[in-house]
Amino acid sequence: MTWTATTRYGLDVAPDGLALVHDFLSTAAAGRPRQQDLLAEPAPAIEWMRGALTAWAQQWSAPVLDQVDLDALTERDLTVLRRVRDGLVDALHARHFDTDASTGGDGRGGLVDVQAALEAGFEPDGTVHFRPKGRGWKLLLGPVALEIRRAQDAGVWPRLKSCKNDRCRGVFYDRSRNNSGVWHDVHICGNAANLRASRARRRAAAQPARAR
Ligand SMILES: [Zn+2]
Repeated sequence: MTWTATTRYGLDVAPDGLALVHDFLSTAAAGRPRQQDLLAEPAPAIEWMRGALTAWAQQWSAPVLDQVDLDALTERDLTVLRRVRDGLVDALHARHFDTDASTGGDGRGGLVDVQAALEAGFEPDGTVHFRPKGRGWKLLLGPVALEIRRAQDAGVWPRLKSCKNDRCRGVFYDRSRNNSGVWHDVHICGNAANLRASRARRRAAAQPARAR
């Protein structure tokens, strides 16, 4: 099972079904150096979506892809997927870093009025499984909505975060005990920020001396 969007950032994917959400958010251009947006063009987007939904289906041993047509994504599908993805990343970022002012705060508006459906099926032993329903963007956003809700119910949704570095915004799953992580990679984004902060502190400390 591979989650290609997340692993290209050298990150471990979120556990269980939340992996699908994590990988969806990792399709964005992020990190340093910047990776490409996997939802910018139909061909790479279809390839990613097929892999991600297959991995998701395997996780649940569910026959979710039997009747799913994944051969086509229109420009409009890609626009909706990017809008929802970016709205979710904005929401994650704002939750921890209150970035309304710096982003203009309009990204999350893309989440309103998006409605996707899932089809539920029952096994003889009472097990319930879900399969994607509809076409295009709905095939992905139904399962994504389900897994966000499951993570929220399980209390692990706050562990999915967007890197504090505004120029990076890589999405990571915080496995620290007290959920205190802020960098997608402490070596790439954390150390650079600490260096900038300590330089700023030195500059600030030097100022009063010059003013005297
Ligand atoms: Zn980062």
